[in-house]
Amino acid sequence: MHDSSDNGGLRSAAVIAVGSELLGVDRLDTNSLRIAAVLAEFGIELRLKLVVGDTTDDLVAALDSAGQRVDLVFVTGGLGPTRDDRTREAVARWSGRELVLDPEVLSWIEEMYSRRGRRMPEPNRRQAEVIEGARVLFNERGTAPGLLLTTDGPAVILLPGVPTEVDGLLAGELRDWFVERTHPDRRWSTLEMKTACVPESRIEELLDPAYERWGADAIAVLARPGEVMVRLRHRDPEELSRARTLLTEHLGDVLFSWSISGPAPTLEETVLARLDEVGQTLAVAESCTGGGLGARLTEVPGSSRSFLGGVISYSNELKQELLGVETTTLEEAGAVSAEVAAQMAGGARDRCGSNWALSITGIAGPGGGRPDKPVGTVWFGLAGPDGSRFQVPVSEHGLFPGDRTRVRQQATQYALDMLRRALSGLEPLRWDQILASPGGKDGRG
Ligand code: AMP
Ligand code: MG
Repeated sequence: MHDSSDNGGLRSAAVIAVGSELLGVDRLDTNSLRIAAVLAEFGIELRLKLVVGDTTDDLVAALDSAGQRVDLVFVTGGLGPTRDDRTREAVARWSGRELVLDPEVLSWIEEMYSRRGRRMPEPNRRQAEVIEGARVLFNERGTAPGLLLTTDGPAVILLPGVPTEVDGLLAGELRDWFVERTHPDRRWSTLEMKTACVPESRIEELLDPAYERWGADAIAVLARPGEVMVRLRHRDPEELSRARTLLTEHLGDVLFSWSISGPAPTLEETVLARLDEVGQTLAVAESCTGGGLGARLTEVPGSSRSFLGGVISYSNELKQELLGVETTTLEEAGAVSAEVAAQMAGGARDRCGSNWALSITGIAGPGGGRPDKPVGTVWFGLAGPDGSRFQVPVSEHGLFPGDRTRVRQQATQYALDMLRRALSGLEPLRWDQILASPGGKDGRG
């Protein structure tokens, strides 16, 4: 293994995101985040990010400026089959090389189409044009291959724009290329830990001993609705094992998953894995989240082993007809109430024939709030197996800050966490611990 100061050693990098849509009002460059994660892992410093439209001159200018300052330039986007995708041409021009049709790439693309029972459209032929001397990175997830070009200046890696294709290529043969060009002592390992339904500020307090021991630069705290992720990086994986032990103790039962050197499981993955382990099934009854909980669960491959399905009972009529919620309960307690949440959960469990059922009914806003039930009020029901503490369905409630989207996200998160806690024999989270944003208990949509 060579020293990182060797000619082949990669120390610094830039990312150029190409696409006119990235300069508009609808789209943001997120591919650079994926690339940044890989660079961080290999200890290569990301020095510069640029976003340019699909304009040859601008991309050549970006390559000129980034290329002088770093060892490696990633270019993502603009490798599509249409004429407005100009990355190949621009990089060829910048490097003073020709574009040549690569027969192997062409038959690879043709085969991709024929596997789907289609003939390759003529425009895709452009994607088989390769910059002279570049190494082809075959793309299992799409028709645009990546390209790796070494020059007298920086190395250049061209990746397509579609994020899943970027992931696929970054996880492939490129890894070996990085391993060969970076020193093991410079690489980082990361520990990820995820917590549910407590605010960032609370987690920050619990992290005090970690800050003392490893320093603020090693620790990142990332919050999203109903979830806080702690990421700790260290050059020594052993030290991360010790960190995990320490933090598991300090974070306590709000910690739901962790991982060293990889993404920690999501809350839905955690709950489904637990159900799978005990051989039990789940159904859902959703009102204000309109299927959002079911969507999260079914996003997980293999979820059919434990998740049966459920009911989107947005109207009172469907709550009665499909879940057996009683008319008098709806009239007396209202659709957003402990009683209705419990009946929805019980109805879903009994009618779907599952062991467990979760229900959600709430006021996501912006309208519909009342002094006694402000926007953000959500009731949750949980029904469990015969003989369990949840044979008679229970309810809990939350008052979530933020707009409609955030309230709905926090609601699916809370529901999943309610089940996680039940499956692990934990007490319900206390309301004084919950609150997803610094907006606090009074934060309102
Ligand atoms: P392209 O390879 O330029 O044709 O891009 C294909 C799709 O990927 C486009 O529709 C973009 O929305 C998406 N995309 C391109 N570049 C990025 C980027 N930097 N971050 C996230 N998505 C991107
Ligand atoms: Mg594009």
